[in-house]
Amino acid sequence: MKTVDLEQETNPWEAQAARFDLAAHKLNLDEGLWKVLRSPSREIIVHIPVQMDDGHLEVFTGFRVQHSIARGPAKGGLRYSPDVNLDEVRALASWMTWKCAVVNIPFGGAKGGIICDPHKMSMGELERMTRRYTAELFEFIGPEKDVPAPDVNTNEQVMAWIMDTYSMHMRQTCTAVVTGKPINIGGSRGRREATGRGVQIVCDEAVKKLHLNRESTRVVIQGFGNVGSHAARLMAEAGYKIIGIVEVGGGLYNKNGIDMAALWDFRQRNGTVHGFPGADKYDPAELLLVDCDILIPAATENQITSQNADRVKCKILAEGANGPTTAAADEILAEKKVFIIPDILANAGGVTTSYFEWVQDRQGYFWKESEVNERLEHIMITSFDDVVRYAETHGVNNRIAAYMLAIDRVAYTIRQRGIYA
Ligand code: GLU
Repeated sequence: MKTVDLEQETNPWEAQAARFDLAAHKLNLDEGLWKVLRSPSREIIVHIPVQMDDGHLEVFTGFRVQHSIARGPAKGGLRYSPDVNLDEVRALASWMTWKCAVVNIPFGGAKGGIICDPHKMSMGELERMTRRYTAELFEFIGPEKDVPAPDVNTNEQVMAWIMDTYSMHMRQTCTAVVTGKPINIGGSRGRREATGRGVQIVCDEAVKKLHLNRESTRVVIQGFGNVGSHAARLMAEAGYKIIGIVEVGGGLYNKNGIDMAALWDFRQRNGTVHGFPGADKYDPAELLLVDCDILIPAATENQITSQNADRVKCKILAEGANGPTTAAADEILAEKKVFIIPDILANAGGVTTSYFEWVQDRQGYFWKESEVNERLEHIMITSFDDVVRYAETHGVNNRIAAYMLAIDRVAYTIRQRGIYA
């Protein structure tokens, strides 16, 4: 494949649009709504001045894209990364619209990003950048407008700064402006693990569907951040055999299963999974291609492409990350009959529990962790069943089924609301 094609293949916006067009075509979506839903409804670019620790002034570029508010306030994470760009944020915002519709929660979709390298910035610099970004977006975000959340390289602390900055401008504490907050300032129990827990729930359902059993199911997980590490721990506790972990800088492999409690403990003490004595070192790119039953890419986009899809050996691909598979790879995986649990379903546990957090903040009444987890399980299982049934009824793969279900729900709402002129 020529480089230029690979460039296009790995552009997240193209990846999203290719699936959207296919699903909209199969739905016979009318041309007008096709145009409405294909592009985001609002794109904001801000240039944020930040006083750095050494005294010089730096200007960071930030984005917030709101794809749709048809079904409720826009919802979606905020990522900090040197490579983030408008096309990526557009795609991620659209995926949030489809994700919220797949799990049937009353939100639209949005995403934010700031071009920066958070690993090279001090806490003070990150705080000033976050607060200024929030202030620049003040009139566009809010509990009823657009509710940010953590994503790649952002966390509970960043959410606390956003909540505080917004609240200072409002002259009152507004907890529901952001989700994924620390528990003592309006966060939800269970939110931290929610995406990983959701991945486990849909894997359980897929394992049942394919008549496998958990104890002999071998799992490889790419990424040991907020999604991958919790998925690995919870799945190991549930009896799965985690044979491979891929992290930035290397891979770990043990065909008899990695002791997850020991790995967590090791990372706690050493700040990294590398050097863990309970597994062999393995080439990270090759680890995606080892013989296993479930592969969980839980890092970033474009991990499974036309270049490696034919060598993937898993039976189930559960997408913990957003956009880990390109549209060209979809076709190859379909031929190989890989059972895909698409990102907009597989990683929806995070935003579903964000919804619970938003509801609890607005009620000012907080639920027990068991209650949060029970509600999450109900939504994830129902959504898994909806997608798989839709795929079987309409003779399409799981990914296109998820898109069709989501697009149909959003289009239905727009038809009901009508177009304001
Ligand atoms: N960043 C997460 C995602 O991509 C969570 C978004 C949210 O909770 O709003 O789904």
